[in-house]
Amino acid sequence: MEEITIQQPLCSQCNTEITLETKFCTNCGFPENGDEKEKAIYHAKKAMKKNQIKDNDKKINSARTTLYWMAGIFFVSGLFLFFILDDIGTLIAGVILAVIYLVLAYWSQKKPFAAILSGLLLYLMVIALNVIMEPTTLFKGIIMKIIILSFLIKGVYSASQNSKE
Ligand SMILES: [Zn+2]
Repeated sequence: MEEITIQQPLCSQCNTEITLETKFCTNCGFPENGDEKEKAIYHAKKAMKKNQIKDNDKKINSARTTLYWMAGIFFVSGLFLFFILDDIGTLIAGVILAVIYLVLAYWSQKKPFAAILSGLLLYLMVIALNVIMEPTTLFKGIIMKIIILSFLIKGVYSASQNSKE
């Protein structure tokens, strides 16, 4: 028996074999057998998507930096309260939180969505616990709290957008 091998056309974008009957590449969706306009639209959309991902990455990076900062803030404020008020409980809590935030910041390189979301929820819990113990703490450093929360929320949103890709 003679074997006939037909050279299949390849997608010009991703080198996947495509058939002449289908307009779009099954792998990347490029309209290989479409007209110039369809190809141009594909490229424009791809460029936009790439920009969006880049933009999201920037926000994820800012959220990661925020997590590192929070580790530092919890550590320093724990130390500070220990020296001022001789409060060992706050020092221990501060050190534990600092370690958790260091781990979350590091983990956010692999799982940005889960890590930043955990950081956000934990921070909300810390704020809530402080308010329960001492209601006036809600407004203490309110601007800083809002800045931290906004960086984390943007990071969570951007990470969820990028993980859909
Ligand atoms: Zn393709």
